[in-house]
Amino acid sequence: MPHKSDSIIPDVIVIGGGFSSAILTHTLSKQGYTVIVLEASERLGGRLSTIELNGRAIDAGCSFVHGYSDSHPLHALSSELGVEIEYAGATKPAIISNKEALDDATAATLQTALTKAIEAAKDSKTHTAHNSLKKVLLESLESTIDGKETLALATAYINSLDAPLGMPVEEVTDLTRFGWEKPLDGKDALVKGGYAVLFDAIWQSALDTGKVTVLKEQKCVSISTKDKVKTIVSTTRGQLESKVIVCTVPLSTLSTIEFHPPLPAEKQSAIADTRVGLLEKLICTYKKNWWGDRNSFTILPTRSTHHSAKEVLESHVLNVQAFENHPTLLIYLPPGAVRLLAMYSKQEVENAGAEVLAESLGGADVDKKSATPLKTHLTTWKKDSNSNGATTTYCTPQQLRALQTAVADDRLGFGGEHTEIDNHGSVNGAVLSGLREAKRVAGYLERRAAN
Ligand SMILES: Cc1cc2nc3c(=O)[nH]c(=O)nc-3n(C[C@H](O)[C@H](O)[C@H](O)COP(=O)(O)OP(=O)(O)OC[C@H]3O[C@@H](n4cnc5c(N)ncnc54)[C@H](O)[C@@H]3O)c2cc1C
Repeated sequence: MPHKSDSIIPDVIVIGGGFSSAILTHTLSKQGYTVIVLEASERLGGRLSTIELNGRAIDAGCSFVHGYSDSHPLHALSSELGVEIEYAGATKPAIISNKEALDDATAATLQTALTKAIEAAKDSKTHTAHNSLKKVLLESLESTIDGKETLALATAYINSLDAPLGMPVEEVTDLTRFGWEKPLDGKDALVKGGYAVLFDAIWQSALDTGKVTVLKEQKCVSISTKDKVKTIVSTTRGQLESKVIVCTVPLSTLSTIEFHPPLPAEKQSAIADTRVGLLEKLICTYKKNWWGDRNSFTILPTRSTHHSAKEVLESHVLNVQAFENHPTLLIYLPPGAVRLLAMYSKQEVENAGAEVLAESLGGADVDKKSATPLKTHLTTWKKDSNSNGATTTYCTPQQLRALQTAVADDRLGFGGEHTEIDNHGSVNGAVLSGLREAKRVAGYLERRAAN
């Protein structure tokens, strides 16, 4: 028999209001379960944030739907909600060295050689805990590239991997943690109007069930599963009870929550040892396009000193994206630069970014007025105490499995990008974790109702 208080205790408390929570809440509420969502900040979205810059919607957090295809978990849901997801246009990349674009043949040589080197590093027999990624990549480049000058360019180009990795390549000293994932297969796509269009539609559909209560500015500080009938969440504003809890807060904030009883040792060590990468976006929007028809640039370093924000940018590889329908440039600030730029003001970093873009992409005779942004935006994911960085990186499948495992006889579960094995670090990971947890929670609640 279900416990007599089951009729008054809400079914589920979901902690956190990001993409994982949206999918979990949507799925459970559609099945008729009652869900309370506790979000620490004053907005839902987490590491998803579509901002408006000079009248244009720009994604300041996640932007691409990776591995998109008809079987992608967001495909059917977005059609049902009437939200369009379209494939991203073909990239027309350029590599910039000393303020000039390399000729297409040299750029293609560098790109092909690095792609091969990455594949070699993934398959390497030297895939061991004592072999650095930089060393393996360099060995491969040395064997495929002719000419000292091209090899020097290719060596600098390796650090274009820093931004997607969330850590400098030099710090990848254990190859067993690199490139083992088999993420969803398909092309990159974009949500028309920005990721928030889809995210808001998912929440609205969940709220329309009448089964969901969202409580914002409710930071979870502790979770108790000591009572066998109800689970208790304490927030900065009070206490709430439910039959089951799913905690979807990011990995880097998980350690700020007290668990009673304490979490199993394996989970505690996975929380302490799994890396969270760094990535920020610096977005500049202009009156009109002044950089031509390329939509993707890699700017190679021109110096090694760091005496100003501009020098910090000039001493790192900068991956830059341009947009098809609006005159905007976006620099993916790599982790090394993010660390060094922490001592400069937002204004200093934004000004430095705009100058580097103008000099690197506009050449000597760039029209200064056109290359002065109308608006700029610098993200602060590292400073935000509800995210504390970008995403999970440089980890092992064992760590992610430990992060994923539910405890307290299935009454306390864990979701979020850091709990999905092959797709960690992405929206896909968050979405898949939401679907996984919804299935597990529904199973638990069915068993509970039947007993
Ligand atoms: C700059 C950047 C670019 C990215 N680009 C892409 C991309 O192009 N494609 C892609 O697939 N992925 C991208 N990602 C990754 C993607 O954004 C994340 O993987 C995904 O949004 C994570 O969703 P989540 O639900 O796991 O976590 P989150 O979105 O972080 O949600 C967790 C929620 O928990 C809340 N919270 C935290 N602590 C507490 C607490 N104690 N109590 C209550 N609530 C709490 C947070 O405020 C947040 O709302 C990017 C990330 C960044 C930072």
